[in-house]
This record gives sequence, C-alpha cells and structure tokens, in this order.
Amino acid sequence: MQNDVLEVLYSEQQIQDKVKEMGELITRDFEGKNPLVICVLKGAFIFMADLVKRIDLPLETDFMAVSSYGASTKSSGVVKIIKDLDISVEGRHVLIVEDIIDSGLTLSYLIDVLERRNALSTTIAALFDKPTGRKVDLDADYKGFVIPDAFVVGYGLDYGEKYRNLPFVGILKPEVYSH
Ligand code: 5GP
Ligand code: MG
Ligand code: MG
Repeated sequence: MQNDVLEVLYSEQQIQDKVKEMGELITRDFEGKNPLVICVLKGAFIFMADLVKRIDLPLETDFMAVSSYGASTKSSGVVKIIKDLDISVEGRHVLIVEDIIDSGLTLSYLIDVLERRNALSTTIAALFDKPTGRKVDLDADYKGFVIPDAFVVGYGLDYGEKYRNLPFVGILKPEVYSH
C-alpha cells in the first residue's frame, strides 16, 4: 500500500493537530446548541470519527451516502442519495462533515436537500479544500487544509475504493493510475 505513495502531503500528526483545532472552534461556535453532525460517506468516515471526539457538545451523529452519476473522477453535479439520514433535520442545526471540496457540486446539492427539509442552519466542515476546482459559489465554514488541484488519497479518501486506510494523506505514483 504505502509503496504506491509518491509523496506524503499531510502526516498523521499534522492531520490530528488540525482536526483538534477544528473541533475546538466548532465547540466554541456551537455553544448552547446540540448540532446534528452528518458524515458524508464514504470519504469522510475517518475525519468524522476523529472530529466528533474533539467537539465537546451534546451532539448527535448521522450518516449519508451520496454518489455522483458517471464514472469520472470529477463530480457531475447530479447527485444520487445512496443512503439517506435516519434522523430528521427539521429545526436542527446541521453540521455537514465532508472529506474534500472540489467543484462544490456535491455539497451544494446536499445543502439544497437539507434546506428543503427545513434544517434550521447548515454549516460545512471540510478537511480539504481545492478552491481552483470550484464550479459553484460555495465555501466551507471550517476547513482544514487548502490544497492544489491534485488527486489525494488516504485518511478516508480512496482511489478505486482503496487507500482509505492510510493514516496520512498523500499522492499516488503515476504508474498506479495506469494499471
Ligand atoms: P465535488 O462535488 O466537490 O467536486 O466533489 C467532492 C467529492 O469528490 C469528494 O467528497 C470526494 O469524494 C471526491 N474527491 C474530490 N477530490 C478528490 C481527491 O483529490 N481525492 C479523492 N480521493 N476524492 C476526491
Ligand atoms: Mg466526500
Ligand atoms: Mg471516491
């Protein structure tokens, strides 16, 4: 696995430090509230697990799986809900936990859905942000790292469903993609 990695961009320690910092900010900003924290599966599952441990609030958690139509690595903007939430968002302060924002199409669709279901507020926490890929006007309220337009894997992020279990985030050797 680790032999397929060309370069480590963010070490396990760097990620942990950042997640702790984000959790502290969220704890401060949501004081007195009990947010519904939504993990966007699958990519955000490790970030979600680490982040909620750093949020000192009476929060609730739920999970949603979405996928964009088409086989491309780029989002098409047409998003399909694979697994919906169990808990109603109506009247709730919702914190959406996402691994990475590229075009922003996935999250803008999700926010639309949550607002139509009468969420009281929607807030985004994204570990990674690729602002150069943006196709819609959307920004994360809490973001970990701003990265250039490269395809990254690890810490929940996959390539062909693999590499999610790497404890760090990096880029793969070019030959991995040509296999
Ligand atoms: P968007 O709709 O913002 O273009 O795409 C967001 C989704 O595309 C992310 O939630 C993630 O699943 C996937 N994605 C975007 N960039 C990357 C990347 O660099 N690496 C991986 N593994 N997935 C990415
Ligand atoms: Mg994602
Ligand atoms: Mg993926």
